[in-house]
Amino acid sequence: MLMEECGVFGVFLKNRSNTIPYIVEGLISLQHRGQESAGIAYEKNNEIKVYKKMGMVADIFSNGIVKKINSHIAIGHVRYSTRGKSEIQNSQPFHVRFRNEHFAIAHNGQIENSEKLRNELEEKGTIFLTESDTELILHILIKNLSKNILEWTLKDIARTIFKYVSPSYSLLLLFKDRIIAIRDKYGYRPLYYYESENGYFISSEDSGFNFLNPDYKNIKEILPGEAIEFSAHGIKKYKIESNKKRFCFFEHIYFARPDSNIFGRNVHLMREELGKLCAMENPIDADIVVPVLDSGFSAAIGYSKESKIPIEMGLMRNRYVGRTFINPNQKDREIGVRRKLPPISPVIKGKRVILVDDSIVRGTTMKKIITMLKDAGAKEIHVRIASPKVVNTCHWGVDIPEKKELIAFGKKVKEIKEEIGANTLGYTSLEGIRKILKEDYNNYCFHCFMEVHDEL
Ligand code: SF4
Repeated sequence: MLMEECGVFGVFLKNRSNTIPYIVEGLISLQHRGQESAGIAYEKNNEIKVYKKMGMVADIFSNGIVKKINSHIAIGHVRYSTRGKSEIQNSQPFHVRFRNEHFAIAHNGQIENSEKLRNELEEKGTIFLTESDTELILHILIKNLSKNILEWTLKDIARTIFKYVSPSYSLLLLFKDRIIAIRDKYGYRPLYYYESENGYFISSEDSGFNFLNPDYKNIKEILPGEAIEFSAHGIKKYKIESNKKRFCFFEHIYFARPDSNIFGRNVHLMREELGKLCAMENPIDADIVVPVLDSGFSAAIGYSKESKIPIEMGLMRNRYVGRTFINPNQKDREIGVRRKLPPISPVIKGKRVILVDDSIVRGTTMKKIITMLKDAGAKEIHVRIASPKVVNTCHWGVDIPEKKELIAFGKKVKEIKEEIGANTLGYTSLEGIRKILKEDYNNYCFHCFMEVHDEL
């Protein structure tokens, strides 16, 4: 079973001009959600075609390719995997041909009941071509709906997926003449659409529309439990009850872009609030606040504002290597930290440093950063984390490893501090986060921050 955190982007253009440059721009905006592979499924001569490769969006979709695969309707996907294989057969979108008709899927999330569904389908003779959860959805639709894909209505498709497939999913389905976007009833993963004069754009994050210079009032959230069809006939909606939400708090902490607005909050401002909270809960006398770039930057601004200790660039960020957390191979990850975040020695030499990061998962990165800062002459290093301890794995689509790999699992803060080699260590509390989110707190998932499985 693969666990994935990905990005999806879809475009339907009313004037039948070429969507592919838009999809490529959209996928570049979502590149932070997955860097292993990228692909586009599009309509061509009444069929669905797919172009996908391993690598970064800009490398895969050169100008030549973009001109070649002209289409007025398309969906795209960026992906990374962790426990499963990072290889082309698992990259998306997936495409199926069934009784001479075609459709494709691009999915962000992880299906909780995937093992059960896969076993049931295999017992009945279904053959799977990939290890991915996403392929299951294609088989579920074919097995439960009429044999003629052209007869499938929005309601049929949505009801089938909502009935059989457990969250999490924010997904796009591409048919020859329409795109269907579906978000699971808990709304774990974000999903937005933008309606312009030219057509419809759908994105995992609303920052994916920024390149369009959009009229922001026309950007809408696809709601938990909602399915929307985009076609030449306009927009059609279908919705099921969604009383309980479970927005992934890790989207705010780490995954989403700072300029995105997800779950009703701006990501940068939310991270800044968390940094302020961290400073209130974990004060310390020091000379400078140093962010672990990029995801710790907004929180470090908040910590600095609250503590009145100046923020300094004590670590630089080498942009030409991938995000550490996103790399599925442990050895590559260790080498990556040294290449990615070299210290700026004159800034930190002889200083008492407050090092602010968004989270600690395995602790590998943090240990190496602390060693580098000490080697570069830091007098003291006080680590401040703008989230609670990560102590549980995730079953809903974020790359959080098994408990035994988590540095905080079963450990007290003092033990973690010693393991990473910091002078002091402070986390932000769930209680404090509850105060920031107020009544919205109950709409979030915090499972990975909870020692016991008691909030389901
Ligand atoms: S367990 Fe953590 S990472 Fe997974 S959905 Fe919940 S908050 Fe997000």
